[in-house]
Amino acid sequence: MDIDKLRKETPGTKNVLHFNNAGASLMPRSVSDAVINYQREESLWGGYETANKYRQSINETYDVIANFINAKPTEIALIENATVAWNMAFWAIDFCEGDRILTSKAEYASNYISYLKLKKEVSVKVEVIPSDNAGQTSVEALEQLMDDRVKLISITHIPTNSGLVNPIEEIGEIAHSYSCLYLVDACQSVGQYPINVQKIGCDMLSATGRKYLRGPRGTGFLYVNKDVLADLTPPFVDLHAAEWTSSGDYKIRNDARRFENWEMNYAGILGLKEAVSYANTIGITSIWNRIVGLAEELRTKLIELPNVTVQDIGKTKGGLVTFTVDGHSTNEIQKELHKKGINISTSSIKSTRLDMEERNLTEVVRASIHYYNTRQEIEQFIITLSTILD
Ligand SMILES: *Cc1c(COP(=O)(O)O)cnc(C)c1O
Repeated sequence: MDIDKLRKETPGTKNVLHFNNAGASLMPRSVSDAVINYQREESLWGGYETANKYRQSINETYDVIANFINAKPTEIALIENATVAWNMAFWAIDFCEGDRILTSKAEYASNYISYLKLKKEVSVKVEVIPSDNAGQTSVEALEQLMDDRVKLISITHIPTNSGLVNPIEEIGEIAHSYSCLYLVDACQSVGQYPINVQKIGCDMLSATGRKYLRGPRGTGFLYVNKDVLADLTPPFVDLHAAEWTSSGDYKIRNDARRFENWEMNYAGILGLKEAVSYANTIGITSIWNRIVGLAEELRTKLIELPNVTVQDIGKTKGGLVTFTVDGHSTNEIQKELHKKGINISTSSIKSTRLDMEERNLTEVVRASIHYYNTRQEIEQFIITLSTILD
């Protein structure tokens, strides 16, 4: 990986030390150019006319994403963010009273709120799969929980608040031996970790553009396996997702675009397409290996600082590095680092209540590393953090 070249292609690296890639990564110039150029064309020639002119290029986005996660283009829906993508899939499932939903301890708040809402409406059972000693979803515990009443296994792959990487491929093997559905929240993993939907064996997977994919904000996508598409009725359909075939009837599309709606941010979509192509050119395995190495280096250095506790869990750890500091609030650390040109984030119990409650945490500092970050930046981060803690 030619890091100098990749950093030159990322103008933001000149301005800031960016360890907030789990929030929103710095876009490569080619991504922001794709967005800006398209938007300019719209302003000069008209939105509909520009969309017609670029229709083929826009449509290629489905191929590029499908290729990146080993799916078919007809299994991809372009959706404005991961939350809407996830909800379109979740609320398409025909739940009945007594159905069981098995989920992970690190589940993202928005997902869990949806389980609770559904539980109020349909009396489903929401059960949390225990974690193993390393802190990841226990595959053995899952196996013991399985029976024919399990309607859905719903797992957050890489949570927002720790280094954890859940074993989604092993979970997929269990899902496969039952007739349940398997939904993966891959919001923090697409662009970071090699996602292969065939290998995972998931039925549905949601992702966002702005995080590890380095795409523009307000972009995302949903993968839905072609074998379950027909059984999943989107919670709402418009004239794009369905055709009004007679005054008394309509017909829903038979590909994953049944989860889309008509109006789209085409500038953002072309940016997303460029972001996926960009990651693909670098190679997702190289990306993952570099992230793992850099993040581990940061953890090793953080552990040496007085009053700092690294809070990451899991057997395999990814690019999200989280820690707490005795005597300093996470907001204070974020603010002080920002003054010194360093972007990081914080994560609170409001995002991952089950996991944080169990570990007696209310908030953590989150420094999320990407491949374009460097060892020098880690060094500089540690030095700056030490001066703040002094
Ligand atoms: C950020 C995040 C989401 C939400 O993604 P949006 O694109 O903001 O909708 C969902 N799940 C996890 C694990 C996240 O980190």
